[in-house]
Amino acid sequence: MRPRYDWRGAGLRYYAYSFFLRSHFGQRVQRVSVDAGFTCPNVDGTVAVGGCNFCDNRSFSPSRRLPRLRIQDQIEEGIRRLRLRYRCQRFLAYFQPATNTYAPVDRLRTVYEAALEDERIVGLVIGTRPDCVPDDVLDLLEEFGRRTWLSVEYGLQTIHDASLDWMNRGHHYDAFQDAMRRSRGRGFEIGAHVILGLPGESRADMLATARELARHQVDSIKIHNLYAVRNTPLGEQVVRGEVQLMPREAYVRSVVDVLEVLPPTTIVERISGEAPPDYFLGPDWCLDKPGLRAAIDEEFARRDTWQGKACYTEGRDESASGLDGRWPPAGRPEESPGSTGQGGR
Ligand code: SF4
Repeated sequence: MRPRYDWRGAGLRYYAYSFFLRSHFGQRVQRVSVDAGFTCPNVDGTVAVGGCNFCDNRSFSPSRRLPRLRIQDQIEEGIRRLRLRYRCQRFLAYFQPATNTYAPVDRLRTVYEAALEDERIVGLVIGTRPDCVPDDVLDLLEEFGRRTWLSVEYGLQTIHDASLDWMNRGHHYDAFQDAMRRSRGRGFEIGAHVILGLPGESRADMLATARELARHQVDSIKIHNLYAVRNTPLGEQVVRGEVQLMPREAYVRSVVDVLEVLPPTTIVERISGEAPPDYFLGPDWCLDKPGLRAAIDEEFARRDTWQGKACYTEGRDESASGLDGRWPPAGRPEESPGSTGQGGR
């Protein structure tokens, strides 16, 4: 079992990923994005076509914007680039774009092994969908989890099936619950990716998602607001004015709300999202990451609160953040243009 690092003793308001990595590995550790060339079952037609309405893998995965190299060469090049910015000796290979367990076990083994050939790699991070981890894949992940530090990130986004359908995820919340049940106790860390500000989701809906993650005791969480990139169904809806993206003030309050109800043991891998300027459409405030972090810190201080403060509290005052009434605007827009309407499994 992972030791519990004293993030509050370090003066933090939440269990920041950088603090965890430094505590766990005893030094700075950075992630190197790796593209193993996988696709995704709601892109190739297995569960849906068109992909999630917000998705362009190039917008969130540096490795998919580059010419595809061998895994070992991607790691070499990624480390070279990271070292231009950071004084860092150890790295995690982050299998990031698309669905990184969506292949036969033999192929998965080959690409994970390739990453571990580099002695500077001290662990693996594998991003995937909760409906793409059959038992033989979990057996493989368990095996790698015995050899190295391993984190498996499940894209959840929300527990609300209507929102998952709107996004064209191609799975429902039950897939996440099933993946959690079969993944637990296998020795690797389990993360969840969540989006706040989905059209039609109220503050209560977002808190319900957070409480479910608390109940499942995920080891780590990634949070960001819904943002739009070009040439996606969501981007087109935003341009046409059919979808309103969450204002910064509402997002700041929502992040603090969510972190308050998560257990203090959940590592917070990120609290913001962005894309390169060539891809990014909005909202513009996403691009000011330092400003956003400062606003979130100020909100924590204003409420004198911290991660986990409301984790075990029943019947707390749900109006404490003062958010209701300003977000969200009523209603959920029609299905995105790229959606097939086959989001349900
Ligand atoms: S599951 Fe991930 S990779 Fe696949 S379409 Fe959705 S966001 Fe993109």
